[in-house]
Amino acid sequence: MALISTSEKRIYLSPPHMSGHEQQYLNEAFETNWIAPLGPNVDEFERRMSAYAGTKGSVAVNSGTAAIHLALILLNVSKGDVVFCSTLTFVASANPIVYAGAEPVFIDSDADSWNMSPQALERALYEAKKKNKLPKAVIIVHLYGQSAKMHELVSICRHYGVPIIEDAAESLGSEYMGQKSGSMGEFGVYSFNGNKIITTSGGGMLVSNDTDRLEQARNLAAQAREPVPHYQHQKTGYNYRMSNLLAGIGIAQLGVLDDRVAAKRALFVRYKESLRSIEGVQFADEISGSRSNRWLTTLIMDETVTGMSVSGLIVALEKENIEARHIWKPLHTQPLFKGCEYFSHREEESVSDQLFATGICLPSGTNMSEAEQDRVIEVIQTQYKLRFNK
Ligand SMILES: *Cc1c(COP(=O)(O)O)cnc(C)c1O
Repeated sequence: MALISTSEKRIYLSPPHMSGHEQQYLNEAFETNWIAPLGPNVDEFERRMSAYAGTKGSVAVNSGTAAIHLALILLNVSKGDVVFCSTLTFVASANPIVYAGAEPVFIDSDADSWNMSPQALERALYEAKKKNKLPKAVIIVHLYGQSAKMHELVSICRHYGVPIIEDAAESLGSEYMGQKSGSMGEFGVYSFNGNKIITTSGGGMLVSNDTDRLEQARNLAAQAREPVPHYQHQKTGYNYRMSNLLAGIGIAQLGVLDDRVAAKRALFVRYKESLRSIEGVQFADEISGSRSNRWLTTLIMDETVTGMSVSGLIVALEKENIEARHIWKPLHTQPLFKGCEYFSHREEESVSDQLFATGICLPSGTNMSEAEQDRVIEVIQTQYKLRFNK
């Protein structure tokens, strides 16, 4: 970017952070010639992932998006069906609904969790039932590591008999009431994209306690071959399996996940302590009973009090070669989903729109040094002082 005026090293939002053990798994795969979309690393990664999540099984795939797509297929979502989805999320949460030929209906956030509002969900399900058009699934996202209010959301979904897919792409390592994020719905989805808390460069995992459906997922992800000696096909399959090389990276990364969670949480605390004196800045607090992986430190700023706008601050950080971002733009406001139904938190109050207007994600790389974090903090403090001439 032309704006950059500093020679300082770039600080990224959430860059990959290798443990040092990844190479060993890659070497082993080379030595044994397991250069394939299956193999011992894939099996081992799946085994360790289920053990970590506390689910009966898991299927390693080549993206989190693919895992969501498979979950929808296994819940029999097809053309003409409706699927509910959190509105405040990355587009990948909802794209698979479209792949399946179904129609997304977006559900607002509530102000304390930033995630799916139980009130909005309740209203949406009530209306859907009246029209005899209940969704085939509800995709609940745990944004930036913060847990959604699963206790309420699960009980509402149970009441209406609608299965849950947890999009835990950003919340691997987070907990809610002692359970791992991603293990509380019919299916859970993790992502190992390059920016996530642990990464395989690209990849995903589908977890569940429904081992029969996971077997189907494994088959669908490998072109849906029938179990006969020749190539026989009855269903449309996909080429979604994870490579044995990347699964090796995943095994090593999973080994340091808890360290990464601790490091991200420490970054959050340090930001909060350094910036809490700025009036009008509010950090996203954990909802009761939850423990966030703090994938990204996020906060909202009241511009009328802080004197800085989110976009102004992002530009100021960029000038110092620091990457910060707006929080996700709600999907109900995306041109792609124009015309889709949306249920706001209250009839007159759309929480996600307010969060988008006032929210910012700060650099949260676990390999960021304290001195680098201080650079970020300093820019924010300077911007604040400039506005008020303090
Ligand atoms: C990253 C992400 C995904 C998609 O994961 P990929 O592995 O990139 O396909 C889905 N949902 C959310 C909320 C994400 O942040």
